[in-house]
Amino acid sequence: MNIHSHPSSARFFPKSPSSRTGEQAKPSFSRRRWLKGTMQIAACAAFGRTLPPGGVYPAENLPEGKRIVRPEKEIEIWDAHVHLTGGEVTGTLSERVPVLLKYADRMGVRRLILSMGTRFVHDPTPEQLREQNDAVLEAVRMAPDRLLGWVYLNPKHQEASLGELERCVVRGPMVGIKLWIAMRCCEPPLDPLMRRAAELRLPVLQHTFFRLGGNLPGESSPSDLVQLAARHPQVHFICAHTGADWERGIRAVRSQQNIWVDVCGSDPTAGFVEMAVRELGHERVIFGSDAPIRTFASQLAKVFSAGLSWEAQKAILHENIIRLIEPVLARRNFPKPASG
Ligand SMILES: [Zn+2]
Repeated sequence: MNIHSHPSSARFFPKSPSSRTGEQAKPSFSRRRWLKGTMQIAACAAFGRTLPPGGVYPAENLPEGKRIVRPEKEIEIWDAHVHLTGGEVTGTLSERVPVLLKYADRMGVRRLILSMGTRFVHDPTPEQLREQNDAVLEAVRMAPDRLLGWVYLNPKHQEASLGELERCVVRGPMVGIKLWIAMRCCEPPLDPLMRRAAELRLPVLQHTFFRLGGNLPGESSPSDLVQLAARHPQVHFICAHTGADWERGIRAVRSQQNIWVDVCGSDPTAGFVEMAVRELGHERVIFGSDAPIRTFASQLAKVFSAGLSWEAQKAILHENIIRLIEPVLARRNFPKPASG
């Protein structure tokens, strides 16, 4: 398989004959929509036409067998939260990358932002940081038109982390910072790294959990991230997993305007993306999957089944993340997406 190829997502999401009517943008049920949907279904049945692919009718109006939820038309998908380990993604890097891209292609995911290496290290030493980032750099080199990277840092190792920032972002292809569970992100040692992030206009993807029974030592909650974001208002933060307990996570970050949420990693429960969009606005919601630990399909379902407008889907699936990494991409003349 040629890992540099990227089949158009049109293959997966054929253009809908209904295009943008604006009608499907309204998430709430209405009698008029129901009647319109019912009439259109009847018309389709009468004339033997197939139904347009999703989004037009509330799912409950569709006959069994037609309840396939897809975006309304071709849409560019960027995944802001991907790893190099999990599921069938094993072996050497040149074995892992094609498998990851095979699954991404199935779901029309065009670009993937990777972080951390071929195994997870909770509290990496300077040597391990370099090793972890080297794995991502090598993967990006294998498929530069598909893969991007977050540089993995550990605030316990200031000098090494600042060095990795320079090596992987300033002189390398990476587009932002990933912080995991080495240290709670509200701690002061984060500050020098965040000052450098502000200078370079780099977004920061911070793992967050509201874990039942208490977080791991060093693990951040969305509330910890709010403290950090308040100290560094010029840095754009992504609250990874929205805290996993997403109802609490959304409420925790709601008033801190320099925090976006990614919707990755938890079960594809109904209501998550809906609530995030309602409470934060679609401008602050970013698609991520946590693949290959989770499947692209299960995580995309959260977005596709949320009854969102075309504008909201576009924002969540690529526009918002592109806006956050744009200052870095602009410096590198990175090609912009073709669609929308
Ligand atoms: Zn992750």
